[in-house]
Amino acid sequence: MRVNSLYKNNQPVISMEFFPPRDPAAQEKFGGLIDTLSSLNPDYLSVTFGAGGSTKDGSYQTVKNLIVDKELPTVAYIAGYGLGPDEIRAVLDGYMELGVETIFVIRGDKPKTKDFVPHPDSFSYASELISFIKAHYDFTLGCAGYPEGHIEAQSLDTDIRYLKQKIDNGAEYVVAQYFYDNEYFFNFVEKCRKQGITVPIVPGIMPVYSIKMTQMLSKVCGSSITPELEEKLNALSSEDTEGALTLGIEFATEQCRGLLAEGVPGLHFYTMDRSRSTQRIITQLRQENLL
Ligand SMILES: Cc1cc2nc3c(=O)[nH]c(=O)nc-3n(C[C@H](O)[C@H](O)[C@H](O)COP(=O)(O)OP(=O)(O)OC[C@H]3O[C@@H](n4cnc5c(N)ncnc54)[C@H](O)[C@@H]3O)c2cc1C
Repeated sequence: MRVNSLYKNNQPVISMEFFPPRDPAAQEKFGGLIDTLSSLNPDYLSVTFGAGGSTKDGSYQTVKNLIVDKELPTVAYIAGYGLGPDEIRAVLDGYMELGVETIFVIRGDKPKTKDFVPHPDSFSYASELISFIKAHYDFTLGCAGYPEGHIEAQSLDTDIRYLKQKIDNGAEYVVAQYFYDNEYFFNFVEKCRKQGITVPIVPGIMPVYSIKMTQMLSKVCGSSITPELEEKLNALSSEDTEGALTLGIEFATEQCRGLLAEGVPGLHFYTMDRSRSTQRIITQLRQENLL
């Protein structure tokens, strides 16, 4: 399955991102999670990859499980941080043998383990990795974009210039980091178009799963908690897990309504390996004939 062909249809493409289960208990739940979410007929699923190769085997096994055992359209990720060209090739050869046709290429971040030593020939930026893959493989490639600017970037404009490099080097679609104000996304797309980026740019949707997780992820990912969302979160007690989930579903559903009204090419759900929020949001949008 080549993702770029899906985005050529005039229907919003629904994609769902998963990380490989971390332990046997998570593995046991993973099958049920996939069965629940795949029953919604998403256009494709995707599997993350831990930088430095930390989830290399788990990512491979998860992609294999989805694409071979369950016959689900699946995109595999690769994060280049710390890996040498031969290690990258070994991962990609494995994916090619499984029948993967689309690879989402990211740089990744330095792993937190103290003893991690990056390969001396590892790639500094995703754009370099994209060039390398393009020169050796026939995969369709995607890359990441940041509506509020990447956390290390000097400015949003500089970051978009580097995004353009990823497209020029061979990426054919962009999945955006999540955001809690659609204006960030619309402004980002407008700036990208002005800089000559013409490929599909897909908004990432991260429902609030818990107050703590939202606060933690916001710091790591550079996605602002807007005053509107903050007010809603503050109105909940920190113990109110059900309230936070419900708020997350309602807030994200409203965000999706606004995005679909502007004709976005798709919605990419960061499921965090949980089914309920994504399931509720998609079901609601379908009931409203928005999907
Ligand atoms: C949809 C999505 C999925 C993700 N999946 C994963 C995953 O599976 N595993 C994982 O580890 N991480 C994942 N990430 C996180 C990602 O790895 C981090 O955000 C990482 O810090 C940047 O990756 P990148 O590919 O955007 O990097 P790059 O595009 O390389 O950019 C990194 C930084 O360097 C700057 N830059 C780029 N090129 C240059 C240049 N030539 N000179 C100077 N500066 C430059 C950019 O402005 C940016 O600040 C994902 C992010 C998104 C949005």
